[in-house]
Amino acid sequence: MEYRELGRTGLQVSRLCFGALTMGPLQRGLSPQQGSWILRRAFELGVNFVDTAELYCTYEHIRLALQDYASERPVVVTTKSYAYSREGMLNSLEKAQKELGPNCLLIFMLHEQESSHTLRGHWPALEVLFEAKKAGVIHAVGVSTHHVEGVRAAGNIPEIDVISPLINSTGIGIQGGNREDMLSAIKGAANLGKGIVAMKPLGGGHLLADWSSALEYLLVKAEIHSIAVGMKTVQEVENNVAFFQGRRDLPAPEITTRRLHIDDWCIGCGACVRACPNQALEIQAGKAKVASRENCVFCGYCGASCPEFAIKVI
Ligand code: SF4
Ligand code: SF4
Repeated sequence: MEYRELGRTGLQVSRLCFGALTMGPLQRGLSPQQGSWILRRAFELGVNFVDTAELYCTYEHIRLALQDYASERPVVVTTKSYAYSREGMLNSLEKAQKELGPNCLLIFMLHEQESSHTLRGHWPALEVLFEAKKAGVIHAVGVSTHHVEGVRAAGNIPEIDVISPLINSTGIGIQGGNREDMLSAIKGAANLGKGIVAMKPLGGGHLLADWSSALEYLLVKAEIHSIAVGMKTVQEVENNVAFFQGRRDLPAPEITTRRLHIDDWCIGCGACVRACPNQALEIQAGKAKVASRENCVFCGYCGASCPEFAIKVI
């Protein structure tokens, strides 16, 4: 496994980052024990970097995988919270520490920032993270974003160490610009010393048919230090590790058709529409409807925001 310095964080991370969204309740719904076996296999094969979020509900999967795990190379976990207030971020931080346990180095991010305006709006929460880093509770502070402007804005904040931008070979899901605009923003941020963790390399599953060229597209980019790939089986872990180690004769992953399911009991409150970073939903005749199948990257954020449990990725 190849490892890279994650910007100026002082952390060395595997180029393959284990994306934990896919195994959790927003997608495949593996039990914590099942998830931990898959994560553990990835650790054994040299992966030392895991991407999760409070929203993904996979802290227990990760904590179980880390239990009694000893390695020369510490496991780095990046998590994220939508908190915007001081109190909210203190709660998120406490939850992550308690539920992930002590056996990892933590990068804490603001989840899904759009621009300098949203970063300003979250400043009290960011200050908590800066203080936590100073106190040695976390190792780095970051921002995740689907927006070109989000990358540019985070790049200009000296205290932000890591950026997790949405980038892939077709540009699916990128907001506020195209693939080239996003790459240019990423290069600018990397030149400023930020660690870059690419997310949605397979466009939420849309690029699975051409998975090897989609991954290769990102692997050759020096400014991208690590690539978060969602995994939910041991076979996927073994194939992805082999691919990242240079094997190019691997079978294509199984293509599972995913779609959004909206139940009849939707009350049309619009929370899912507001939660969707990709404008893939709309309200029609008092119910949520898919406005654009092409824009949906199956992140599951809509499902997590629904007070009625009426929308999910299946
Ligand atoms: S959040 Fe749930 S109830 Fe509200 S519009 Fe969306 S699917 Fe319907
Ligand atoms: S519709 Fe839901 S799953 Fe699709 S991109 Fe929007 S929030 Fe994510």
